[in-house]
Amino acid sequence: MTGTLTNWAGNITYSAGELHRPQSLDALAALVAAATRVRVLGSGHSFNTIAEPGDDGVLLSLTALPSAVDVDSGARTVRVAGGVRYAELARRVHRAGFALPNMASLPHISVAGSVATGTHGSGVTNGSLASVVREVELVTADGSTVTVGRGEERFDGAVTSLGALGVVTALTLDLEPAFEVSQHVFTELPLAGLDFETVAAAAYSVSLFTDWVRPGFRQVWLKRRTDQPPADFPWAAPATAAMHPVPGMPAVNCTEQFGVPGPWHERLPHFRAEFTPSSGAELQSEYLLPRARALEALHALDAVRDTVSPVLQVCEVRTVAADRQWLSPAYGRDTVALHFTWVADTAAVLPVVRRVEEALDAFGPRPHWGKVYTMPSSVVRGRYPRLADFASLAAALDPAGKFRNAFVREALGV
Ligand SMILES: Cc1cc2nc3c(=O)[nH]c(=O)nc-3n(C[C@H](O)[C@H](O)[C@H](O)COP(=O)(O)OP(=O)(O)OC[C@H]3O[C@@H](n4cnc5c(N)ncnc54)[C@H](O)[C@@H]3O)c2cc1C
Repeated sequence: MTGTLTNWAGNITYSAGELHRPQSLDALAALVAAATRVRVLGSGHSFNTIAEPGDDGVLLSLTALPSAVDVDSGARTVRVAGGVRYAELARRVHRAGFALPNMASLPHISVAGSVATGTHGSGVTNGSLASVVREVELVTADGSTVTVGRGEERFDGAVTSLGALGVVTALTLDLEPAFEVSQHVFTELPLAGLDFETVAAAAYSVSLFTDWVRPGFRQVWLKRRTDQPPADFPWAAPATAAMHPVPGMPAVNCTEQFGVPGPWHERLPHFRAEFTPSSGAELQSEYLLPRARALEALHALDAVRDTVSPVLQVCEVRTVAADRQWLSPAYGRDTVALHFTWVADTAAVLPVVRRVEEALDAFGPRPHWGKVYTMPSSVVRGRYPRLADFASLAAALDPAGKFRNAFVREALGV
């Protein structure tokens, strides 16, 4: 039935037996209770089979449910429904005078799908997007609703959950007062002599971009909060034209540059909300490893750049503060995230992904759950000290494994 339903990148065709878009929570609960295998499709921006329910499974889309975004100004929180995307959430939060501390590069991704995979932005003091979640509401395998809040022991397994605990129907997030950000782009930062810690901390959010055609970074994007004193950036030259991270692409879809101050949600993502890329000719991989090893890891990538650059559109280097979610790729360690946007050619890209994984292996990388990787699952499992606790939580909430697809079974080793 869903033979032509694909993810955003078009490299995955979901082969679910049925696709449903329930219009009420009661209808959703009844569908879940009656199904033998269920997965939820968020906005479909993952690049692997994480959302795939399998031939006998039900794929649920939450897009027909009410898209509630309820700000509680007194509590400084927002309760957001399970199908809402960041662009919509951010607009409504900003209108109420509040902000989220960070966003991913693209605002079109769903909130529930993003926190389920450990999605992050950048900044040495910014945790992954899951770190501001304070409560999760789930429809679990028998159709009943379960709420898990910060402070409960199982909460640290409940947000970055790979969709394995149930259908997330709402999330409550912490907010802070709205703030402004100015974005500056610099060009040609050398790798030789790089003081990574200082550069990564030179603004609220820092991204380094390279094509690995030659050593060093073609661009540095600094997102400075206007309520914090700006640090100098003497290591590279200011850009003289607006830039897109991918060489040769027009900057028109990118968020405003040249230091023009603007609302947090119009500067923290790299791409503008008003341009909606319905599909993308690309694949992505990303590896998260201890920030203290960043420089060594960058030199290891530099050593394989002749292999990497022919299939690479752009590589982005960001930082993520340690968090406590058991399955978060930033769990327990301040992190550097090494991201690769590849050309849309799986056969050409996979051998290079393997080569990158070999080059980074010594640094204990954890792959982004929503992107392409080839590392053996046994290796990935060994990098999550609380994996067994997560498997126990999943078994308690979903004894028959209704929400466990092939990807999740492999990830958990069950
Ligand atoms: C152009 C682009 C830019 C990106 N930028 C970044 C970035 O800056 N940083 C970063 O870390 N990642 C980034 N990503 C990756 C992306 O954030 C993740 O793949 C994320 O999971 C996408 O969310 P989604 O809703 O599209 O998820 P989907 O692919 O639809 O689903 C992901 C997982 O979440 C589950 N899920 C979704 N909704 C629910 C729900 N309501 N209840 C239970 N489970 C649910 C699904 O079952 C699946 O397991 C980017 C991806 C693209 C295509």
